Amino acid sequence: MNVVMIGAGYVGLTTGACLAELGHRVVCIDTDAMKIARLKRAEVPIYEPGLSELIRRHMMAGRLAFSDDLASAAPQADAIFIAVGTPSDDDGDIDLSYVKGAAAELAPLVKSDAVIVIKSTVVAGTARMIANLVAEIRGDSDVHVASNPEFLREGSAIGDFLEADRIVIGADDARSADVLAELYAPLRKKGVPFVTTTTTNAELVKYAANAFLALKIGFINEVADLCEAADGDVAAVAEGIGLDRRIGRAFLNAGPGFGGSCFPKDTRAFAATGRRYRQPQTLVETLIQRNEARKAKLAAKIIAELGRKGGRVAVLGTAFKSNTDDVRDSAALTVIPALLDAGIAVVAHDPKARKATERLVPGAAWRDCPYEAARDADALVILTEWDDYARLDLRRISGLMAGRSIVDCRNLFAPHEVTRHGLKYVSIGRRPAT
Ligand code: NAD
Repeated sequence: MNVVMIGAGYVGLTTGACLAELGHRVVCIDTDAMKIARLKRAEVPIYEPGLSELIRRHMMAGRLAFSDDLASAAPQADAIFIAVGTPSDDDGDIDLSYVKGAAAELAPLVKSDAVIVIKSTVVAGTARMIANLVAEIRGDSDVHVASNPEFLREGSAIGDFLEADRIVIGADDARSADVLAELYAPLRKKGVPFVTTTTTNAELVKYAANAFLALKIGFINEVADLCEAADGDVAAVAEGIGLDRRIGRAFLNAGPGFGGSCFPKDTRAFAATGRRYRQPQTLVETLIQRNEARKAKLAAKIIAELGRKGGRVAVLGTAFKSNTDDVRDSAALTVIPALLDAGIAVVAHDPKARKATERLVPGAAWRDCPYEAARDADALVILTEWDDYARLDLRRISGLMAGRSIVDCRNLFAPHEVTRHGLKYVSIGRRPAT
């Protein structure tokens, strides 16, 4: 099939490259001309394991192309995906202006049996609203707008697409359901389960899924605080409850509070939808507050660890999780400014996210390796669970640091591994160890 992907971000690029892998011909469109110019040279602007290779392979095979000219690409397309951003607006609801803008631009260009597929995460009722918008612009009510929410995780996006837990197709007409079934047929053959439902249900599935996963994280974080006070160990508790198949072990890692491009924004949008329909999502409302408070509390904990004014803190990891350069709503964006405001010099390191962090939180000094960041630091803070940090030579770190405290927000070490080098180990959900 001929596919056009509008929006060449994390989701658009991965989905576009993976649809090419399934055998379709894909053109990815973006309004960012610089991004498209780089992609045409096979330079991938984001870090996602395996993506550059996949993109290069399908560009060479002639199945994947990049363009900023929607008017040339859209008329041939059987399916046009909208994968543009849906950021939070000031009330916590989502800003649909990019989705609406893309749909309005598309409306006069597409052939009459083409299906417009909303891949972006959008609130309940959006696909139907977009169908009305497109019908109005075309002066024709026979339009096909489907919803196909995306569940990929940054860092493992390609595997998440090709070996998805499920594919959710929201279709309010037979043509939309047929085109999406054909597009994903190779995955169905491999045994990936399909849920075919209405567009509204598909939109609700995406938010309910993310809210539930975020609740798991928020829950284990609160259990971690209790463990710290009650002399427990959250890792043991998480294992004990996670082996219950009704609960599951995933998303039970206590940490600095969730961040990233999805959970904070999607929980806010889910809560805003609840308020709009006068069905308040109280659990999720509380979760949002507690998660933000957790990041601020963490900054206070680090400052208390220094035990004096000023000083120097090494911050290892600013991406919201490992294997990505995405720093949106990461703990570092709260922690670094709070440390700087307290007059503390911050020396940071991240293997992939330096540029993105520097744009959002200026003021920290940066080093190219974690050991250089640790040199002369009064305390060292680990915010992201990069594998490189789990393999740190703690003896070397101990020799380089001026102070003794390691605040590890990802529990990368067993306490004795750290304390035997004369360091104090402050982790999450366990008593500090010296
Ligand atoms: P992103 O910001 O990385 O990319 C969006 C791209 O769309 C940008 O390159 C932008 O220039 C482009 N764009 C905006 N308006 C356009 C237009 N009219 N025409 C062409 N291009 C346009 O965003 P993302 O992380 O890929 O997320 C996209 C959507 O997918 C969001 O709704 C997000 O919530 C959802 N989602 C994201 C993830 C994730 O892990 N990133 C996972 C699941 C769902």
